[in-house]
Amino acid sequence: MPPIPGSGLAKGLAVTLRTMTKRSHTAQYPDAQPELPPRTRGVIGLFEENCTVCMLCARECPDWCIYIDSHKETIPAVTPGGRERSRNVLDRFAIDFSLCMYCGICIEVCPFDALFWSPEFEYAETDIRDLTHERDKLREWMWTVPAPPALDPAAEEPKEVAAARKAVEKAEAAAAAAAAQAAAAAAQDAPTTGPGTPGTPGTPGTPGTPESPAGGTAR
Ligand code: SF4
Ligand code: SF4
Repeated sequence: MPPIPGSGLAKGLAVTLRTMTKRSHTAQYPDAQPELPPRTRGVIGLFEENCTVCMLCARECPDWCIYIDSHKETIPAVTPGGRERSRNVLDRFAIDFSLCMYCGICIEVCPFDALFWSPEFEYAETDIRDLTHERDKLREWMWTVPAPPALDPAAEEPKEVAAARKAVEKAEAAAAAAAAQAAAAAAQDAPTTGPGTPGTPGTPGTPGTPESPAGGTAR
Protein backbone atom coordinates (compact mmCIF):
# COMPACT_ATOMS: atom_id res chain seq x y z
CA MET A 1 0.00 0.00 0.00
CA PRO A 2 1.49 3.38 -0.97
CA PRO A 3 2.16 5.74 1.95
CA ILE A 4 -0.35 8.51 2.59
CA PRO A 5 1.10 11.81 1.39
CA GLY A 6 2.30 13.89 4.35
CA SER A 7 2.30 10.96 6.85
CA GLY A 8 6.10 11.18 7.22
CA LEU A 9 5.83 14.86 8.08
CA ALA A 10 3.11 14.14 10.65
CA LYS A 11 5.25 11.38 12.24
CA GLY A 12 8.25 13.69 12.45
CA LEU A 13 6.18 16.46 14.04
CA ALA A 14 4.77 13.96 16.55
CA VAL A 15 8.29 12.96 17.60
CA THR A 16 9.27 16.63 17.89
CA LEU A 17 6.25 17.42 20.04
CA ARG A 18 6.89 14.39 22.24
CA THR A 19 10.53 15.22 22.95
CA MET A 20 10.57 19.03 22.93
CA THR A 21 9.31 19.27 26.52
CA LYS A 22 11.73 16.65 27.89
CA ARG A 23 15.08 17.57 29.51
CA SER A 24 18.11 17.23 27.25
CA HIS A 25 20.81 14.70 28.28
CA THR A 26 23.54 16.34 26.24
CA ALA A 27 26.47 17.49 28.40
CA GLN A 28 27.89 20.68 26.98
CA TYR A 29 31.59 19.89 27.32
CA PRO A 30 33.80 21.81 28.20
CA ASP A 31 31.27 23.96 30.08
CA ALA A 32 30.03 20.82 31.84
CA GLN A 33 32.58 18.19 32.83
CA PRO A 34 31.55 14.60 32.08
CA GLU A 35 30.88 12.28 34.99
CA LEU A 36 33.42 9.54 34.42
CA PRO A 37 33.35 6.10 36.03
CA PRO A 38 36.03 5.71 38.72
CA ARG A 39 38.04 3.16 36.70
CA THR A 40 38.23 5.29 33.57
CA ARG A 41 41.37 4.72 31.49
CA GLY A 42 42.26 8.34 30.87
CA VAL A 43 46.03 8.46 31.17
CA ILE A 44 48.84 6.62 32.97
CA GLY A 45 50.31 8.12 36.14
CA LEU A 46 53.77 7.19 37.44
CA PHE A 47 54.66 6.93 41.13
CA GLU A 48 58.40 7.00 40.55
CA GLU A 49 59.39 6.30 44.18
CA ASN A 50 58.06 2.77 43.63
CA CYS A 51 59.81 2.23 40.29
CA THR A 52 62.87 -0.02 40.52
CA VAL A 53 63.66 0.25 36.79
CA CYS A 54 62.97 -3.45 36.34
CA MET A 55 61.92 -2.70 32.70
CA LEU A 56 59.04 -5.18 32.85
CA CYS A 57 56.48 -2.61 31.67
CA ALA A 58 58.64 -1.54 28.71
CA ARG A 59 59.27 -5.17 27.72
CA GLU A 60 55.60 -6.20 27.92
CA CYS A 61 54.14 -3.11 26.20
CA PRO A 62 52.77 -4.40 22.86
CA ASP A 63 53.34 -1.00 21.23
CA TRP A 64 56.85 -0.41 22.58
CA CYS A 65 55.83 3.07 23.58
CA ILE A 66 57.44 3.19 27.04
CA TYR A 67 60.93 4.70 27.08
CA ILE A 68 63.11 4.15 30.14
CA ASP A 69 66.71 5.25 30.75
CA SER A 70 68.65 4.55 33.92
CA HIS A 71 72.12 4.21 35.38
CA LYS A 72 73.60 2.15 38.20
CA GLU A 73 74.65 3.71 41.46
CA THR A 74 76.93 2.09 44.02
CA ILE A 75 75.87 2.26 47.64
CA PRO A 76 78.81 1.90 50.05
CA ALA A 77 78.78 -0.90 52.61
CA VAL A 78 77.02 0.05 55.81
CA THR A 79 79.22 -2.10 58.06
CA PRO A 80 83.02 -2.43 58.03
CA GLY A 81 83.99 -5.30 55.75
CA GLY A 82 80.46 -5.36 54.30
CA ARG A 83 79.60 -5.63 50.65
CA GLU A 84 78.88 -2.65 48.41
CA ARG A 85 75.49 -2.70 46.80
CA SER A 86 74.29 -1.27 43.52
CA ARG A 87 70.88 0.07 42.58
CA ASN A 88 69.21 1.39 39.46
CA VAL A 89 68.49 5.10 39.29
CA LEU A 90 65.76 6.28 36.95
CA ASP A 91 66.89 8.92 34.44
CA ARG A 92 63.99 8.93 32.04
CA PHE A 93 60.49 7.46 31.99
CA ALA A 94 58.27 8.53 29.10
CA ILE A 95 55.16 7.19 27.41
CA ASP A 96 54.20 8.02 23.85
CA PHE A 97 50.42 8.35 24.03
CA SER A 98 50.16 8.64 20.25
CA LEU A 99 51.11 4.93 20.13
CA CYS A 100 49.59 3.72 23.39
CA MET A 101 46.41 1.69 22.93
CA TYR A 102 45.38 1.90 26.58
CA CYS A 103 45.50 -1.87 27.05
CA GLY A 104 46.72 -1.53 30.64
CA ILE A 105 49.30 -4.33 30.37
CA CYS A 106 52.07 -2.10 31.76
CA ILE A 107 49.97 -1.33 34.84
CA GLU A 108 49.06 -5.00 35.32
CA VAL A 109 52.62 -6.30 35.06
CA CYS A 110 54.36 -3.67 37.21
CA PRO A 111 55.40 -5.68 40.29
CA PHE A 112 55.99 -2.60 42.43
CA ASP A 113 52.75 -0.61 41.98
CA ALA A 114 54.42 2.27 40.20
CA LEU A 115 51.85 2.75 37.40
CA PHE A 116 48.18 3.66 37.78
CA TRP A 117 45.23 4.70 35.64
CA SER A 118 44.16 8.30 36.05
CA PRO A 119 40.79 9.52 34.71
CA GLU A 120 42.48 12.68 33.33
CA PHE A 121 41.74 12.96 29.63
CA GLU A 122 42.37 16.58 28.70
CA TYR A 123 45.80 16.24 27.15
CA ALA A 124 45.05 16.52 23.45
CA GLU A 125 47.79 18.15 21.37
CA THR A 126 47.84 19.65 17.91
CA ASP A 127 51.27 18.15 17.21
CA ILE A 128 51.51 14.36 17.56
CA ARG A 129 55.11 14.64 18.80
CA ASP A 130 53.85 16.46 21.90
CA LEU A 131 51.99 13.33 22.98
CA THR A 132 55.19 11.80 24.36
CA HIS A 133 54.99 12.69 28.01
CA GLU A 134 57.97 12.58 30.36
CA ARG A 135 58.20 11.50 33.99
CA ASP A 136 57.34 14.93 35.47
CA LYS A 137 54.04 15.00 33.63
CA LEU A 138 53.34 11.34 34.42
CA ARG A 139 54.03 12.13 38.08
CA GLU A 140 51.66 15.12 37.97
CA TRP A 141 48.93 12.79 36.72
CA MET A 142 49.65 10.46 39.60
CA TRP A 143 47.92 12.91 41.98
CA THR A 144 44.69 12.66 39.95
CA VAL A 145 44.46 8.89 40.49
CA PRO A 146 41.37 8.14 42.61
CA ALA A 147 41.79 6.39 45.94
CA PRO A 148 41.24 2.64 45.80
CA PRO A 149 37.80 1.40 46.85
CA ALA A 150 37.36 0.54 50.51
CA LEU A 151 38.13 -3.02 51.50
CA ASP A 152 35.35 -5.45 52.23
CA PRO A 153 35.10 -5.40 56.05
CA ALA A 154 35.01 -9.21 56.09
CA ALA A 155 38.08 -9.54 53.87
CA GLU A 156 41.41 -10.79 55.15
CA GLU A 157 43.79 -7.98 56.07
CA PRO A 158 46.26 -7.37 53.21
CA LYS A 159 49.76 -8.67 54.00
CA GLU A 160 51.46 -5.30 53.56
CA VAL A 161 48.90 -3.57 55.83
CA ALA A 162 49.33 -6.30 58.47
CA ALA A 163 53.13 -5.98 58.26
CA ALA A 164 52.94 -2.18 58.58
CA ARG A 165 50.53 -2.44 61.54
CA LYS A 166 52.79 -4.96 63.32
CA ALA A 167 55.83 -2.73 62.77
CA VAL A 168 53.97 0.27 64.26
CA GLU A 169 52.77 -1.79 67.23
CA LYS A 170 56.32 -3.09 67.83
CA ALA A 171 57.76 0.44 67.67
CA GLU A 172 55.08 1.73 70.07
CA ALA A 173 55.73 -1.12 72.52
CA ALA A 174 59.49 -0.46 72.40
CA ALA A 175 58.93 3.27 72.99
CA ALA A 176 56.58 2.56 75.92
CA ALA A 177 59.09 0.12 77.48
CA ALA A 178 61.93 2.64 77.11
CA ALA A 179 59.77 5.38 78.68
CA ALA A 180 58.84 3.10 81.61
CA GLN A 181 62.51 2.17 82.13
CA ALA A 182 63.54 5.84 82.10
CA ALA A 183 60.79 6.72 84.59
CA ALA A 184 61.88 3.89 86.94
CA ALA A 185 65.53 5.00 86.75
CA ALA A 186 64.53 8.61 87.47
CA ALA A 187 62.47 7.52 90.50
CA GLN A 188 65.43 5.52 91.87
CA ASP A 189 67.86 8.44 91.53
CA ALA A 190 65.55 11.04 93.11
CA PRO A 191 66.53 12.11 96.78
CA THR A 192 64.14 10.97 99.53
CA THR A 193 62.09 13.87 100.82
CA GLY A 194 59.70 14.19 103.82
CA PRO A 195 59.99 13.56 107.53
CA GLY A 196 62.13 10.44 107.10
CA THR A 197 63.56 8.30 109.94
CA PRO A 198 65.48 9.72 112.80
CA GLY A 199 69.17 9.70 112.10
CA THR A 200 71.66 7.43 113.89
CA PRO A 201 73.50 9.19 116.61
CA GLY A 202 77.12 9.86 115.89
CA THR A 203 79.79 7.91 117.69
CA PRO A 204 82.09 9.77 119.88
CA GLY A 205 85.36 10.17 118.06
CA THR A 206 88.69 11.68 118.57
CA PRO A 207 88.70 15.40 118.91
CA GLY A 208 89.73 16.98 115.64
CA THR A 209 91.48 20.10 114.78
CA PRO A 210 89.51 23.32 115.03
CA GLU A 211 89.44 23.63 111.21
CA SER A 212 88.23 20.11 110.52
CA PRO A 213 86.54 18.51 113.40
CA ALA A 214 86.54 14.77 113.02
CA GLY A 215 84.20 12.12 114.28
CA GLY A 216 80.73 12.48 115.61
CA THR A 217 79.55 15.07 117.99
CA ALA A 218 79.69 14.06 121.60
CA ARG A 219 76.90 15.28 123.77
S1 SF4 B 1 48.63 0.82 28.17
FE1 SF4 B 1 49.39 -0.82 26.82
S2 SF4 B 1 50.09 0.22 24.98
FE2 SF4 B 1 49.87 1.79 26.55
S3 SF4 B 1 51.89 1.98 27.45
FE3 SF4 B 1 50.78 0.49 28.70
S4 SF4 B 1 51.30 -1.51 27.80
FE4 SF4 B 1 51.87 0.05 26.31
S1 SF4 C 1 57.41 -2.39 35.67
FE1 SF4 C 1 57.05 -0.88 37.29
S2 SF4 C 1 58.94 -0.93 38.51
FE2 SF4 C 1 59.40 -1.94 36.56
S3 SF4 C 1 60.23 -0.28 35.28
FE3 SF4 C 1 58.02 -0.39 34.86
S4 SF4 C 1 57.12 1.12 36.27
FE4 SF4 C 1 59.19 0.71 36.99
